[in-house]
Amino acid sequence: MEKRTNKKLYVVSGSSGVGKGTVLKGFMAKHPDFMLSISCTTRSPREGEVDGENYFFLTKEDFQACINEDKFLEWAEFAGNFYGTKKKFIKECLDNGMNVILEIETNGALQVKKKMPEAVLIFITPPSLEALEARLRGRHTEDEETIQKRLNEVKKELECAKKYDYRVVNDNLDNAISELENIIAGEQEKC
Ligand code: ADP
Ligand code: 5GP
Repeated sequence: MEKRTNKKLYVVSGSSGVGKGTVLKGFMAKHPDFMLSISCTTRSPREGEVDGENYFFLTKEDFQACINEDKFLEWAEFAGNFYGTKKKFIKECLDNGMNVILEIETNGALQVKKKMPEAVLIFITPPSLEALEARLRGRHTEDEETIQKRLNEVKKELECAKKYDYRVVNDNLDNAISELENIIAGEQEKC
């Protein structure tokens, strides 16, 4: 039987501070053959973040030019900054037979699902809202105003989680990574 090669685009979302980056880092360490997409953003780099590795850090003008030139597969405004995924990058990876993971917020994820219904949407939830806030604060990367903006998004994001194909609770980190691995392995079986 001919091998199907769809279902290679995975979209991971979750509220700020839930641990998406940490879970995906654990996943990528075990699965280096997967490609983690590098997004564009207008937000300032955090300490230690490198342009071209964590994000492509763009000015608002450059980001707007990419919108005007229809360069994004999806883009959204989140907590006062713009974020977007370049079409070209994703297309090249998929054309080269790579499995791609996007770590993006919910509006962008739903745009991707609309354009590419074969994309698999995975939502990471916190064990509790208290734990989420503690993690966001404990990271010490945002000021109070930014933390509040991000916490304001949580209710809407959790509502959106119902539209995702899978939900993973990030309580114990190793369990969350294993659960993500199991979901992706199951989807890869279908390819
Ligand atoms: P996100 O990418 O979703 O914004 P991060 O990956 O930056 O979140 O994680 C936010 C904070 O929570 C970090 O300090 C991280 O070490 C911590 N963290 C992540 N997963 C867990 C977990 N399962 N239990 C406790 N702390 C966690
Ligand atoms: P952060 O500023 O914490 O890195 O990211 C803030 C939010 O933007 C997170 O929910 C993250 O998943 C999301 N995000 C990162 N890159 C993209 C992107 O390319 N598109 C969209 N829509 N969201 C993104």
